[in-house]
Amino acid sequence: MAGRNFLFVPGPTNVPDRILRAMMVPMEDHRSSIFPELARACLNGLKPVFKTTTGTPILFPSSGTGCWEAALSNCLSPGDKVLTAVFGQFSHLWADMARRLGFDVEVLETPWGESAPVERYLAALSADPHHKIKAVLICQNETATGVTSDVHALRQATDSVKHPALLFVDSVSALGSIDFRMDEWGVDVCVSGSQKGLMLPAGLGVTCVSQKALEAAKSASSRRCYFDYKDMVVANGTGYFPYTPSLPMLYGLRESLTMLAEEGLENVFHRHHYLAGGVRAAIQGGWKLKLCALNPKSYSDTVSAIMMPEGIHGAEVIARAFTRYNLALGAGLSKVAGKLFRIGHLGDLNELMLLGAISGAEMAMLDTGVKVEPGSGAAAAQNYWRSNPARIVPAEAATAERKAPRPGVAA
Ligand code: PLP
Repeated sequence: MAGRNFLFVPGPTNVPDRILRAMMVPMEDHRSSIFPELARACLNGLKPVFKTTTGTPILFPSSGTGCWEAALSNCLSPGDKVLTAVFGQFSHLWADMARRLGFDVEVLETPWGESAPVERYLAALSADPHHKIKAVLICQNETATGVTSDVHALRQATDSVKHPALLFVDSVSALGSIDFRMDEWGVDVCVSGSQKGLMLPAGLGVTCVSQKALEAAKSASSRRCYFDYKDMVVANGTGYFPYTPSLPMLYGLRESLTMLAEEGLENVFHRHHYLAGGVRAAIQGGWKLKLCALNPKSYSDTVSAIMMPEGIHGAEVIARAFTRYNLALGAGLSKVAGKLFRIGHLGDLNELMLLGAISGAEMAMLDTGVKVEPGSGAAAAQNYWRSNPARIVPAEAATAERKAPRPGVAA
């Protein structure tokens, strides 16, 4: 099909040309004397993204799922109790993994579309005076439903009852797009991946571990080998990896971190919030459809899950968008399969790219029998963005962007 494929699933996201170029490198010796420069640029460059000075970023050759497993198997012993809330497919999968790895999982079942129930976590922690719960898990941004939860509030709840459990956060579809604060929120393990806000292909598990988590790992007796934090931390300390790293991914990550720093992380969050506002205007104001997310306070700035009217199967809209308009939309997963489709709005994108996705989704819906007004979504998004003065790029960021070296252009 002529023209570009419009990739609007909530990860993998569009990889900017600048990153693609940075990744096109010949292979080199990952044990050379100059390799540590690249490794350190990546590992140190991740600290501001996690908002940490005391945590240790770690890169596994995996996806986010590998970092879920690493968090559990490094910090816990078989049979340890973990507390989590399930309110979408990804929070479900992490809880399921914990069960399969032999932990005692207490699940706070929560309707899909709601956010993590902090008051129920608090009740469970209060009812645990002997501190049997060793880790509390939360999914910051539930990609299946487009719901963001309040990690800081969970930390405050844990502290309010002086519970020593470790706090593990899945920030796979939030890190680098929605604010995350490792140190300030007292997060012990943050789990993420390369293919979302970091604008890279899938292939790197990107995680960050607190001193407390590393301390816990010393006595935790779960079996682990490939995902052992200790092997990584020891090798990374010398500027190397315990096994062969993917060079293109590291070069890509270094470029991604440079791009995020140039735009300014706060500006990146701001852009996501502003762009998400336009998408929501299209869905609710233009198409008069409902989001899966129930509470406006927890609307996700990286993904919107759009409920389909009775009698319409979301998969048909997605199939039509793909085959007729070359637009990839996200599917409804598990419990909400067929009931919704998702638009990912994270990573490297702007208003006009999103207008393509909105218009494509609108045409696919019209073709499959959804009664939306032609042009209504795009018009609502345009009106939102044009009347919203929020997208002001501070002068320093704009200057940095202009000064950034462009391949093939003399400085
Ligand atoms: N957690 C969340 C919130 C996700 O969105 C995803 C994937 O989309 C995962 C975990 C799993 O990550 P991965 O597919 O990188 O293993």
